[in-house]
Amino acid sequence: MKFIADRMLERLARWLRLFGYDTSGIKKQENEDDTLLELAQSEGRILVSRDEELIRRAVKKGIRAYLVRSPEIIEQLREVQKEFNIKLEPVMDRCSLCNSPIRKVEPSEMGLVRSKDYVYLARLESGTEFWICDKCGQVYWQGKHWENIMETVKKYFQ
Ligand SMILES: [Zn+2]
Repeated sequence: MKFIADRMLERLARWLRLFGYDTSGIKKQENEDDTLLELAQSEGRILVSRDEELIRRAVKKGIRAYLVRSPEIIEQLREVQKEFNIKLEPVMDRCSLCNSPIRKVEPSEMGLVRSKDYVYLARLESGTEFWICDKCGQVYWQGKHWENIMETVKKYFQ
């Protein structure tokens, strides 16, 4: 199941990627609605949006689309979970920024990690595992941020 989200739902898109779902977005541009519809159609993605008019246009074109009702992220995730019967379980699978697959960093590639100023030296020395997005270069690890995510998931989705 693949999604495409409008720019109002960027946060939802990031969370869906965190749960391993291929969720693309688009950059700010002219005729965003047309671009979203084209991409949804050509890539076989489910369009998620809070724009009723856009959803109507999608359905008319035979594109699978879902109108997100809540403005609030936890509720949005619950809506999508219910609508598509998907599992909300965090996985190290996909870059939450650009939606590309991420992969484990090999010991020989630690230079890639060291070059990021947001990775602290202490982590490099503690044997932490790292993942990297080859497309945008973002580095991931299961630190405090990951713990917070797990707590949120436990609290709201399990
Ligand atoms: Zn990326």
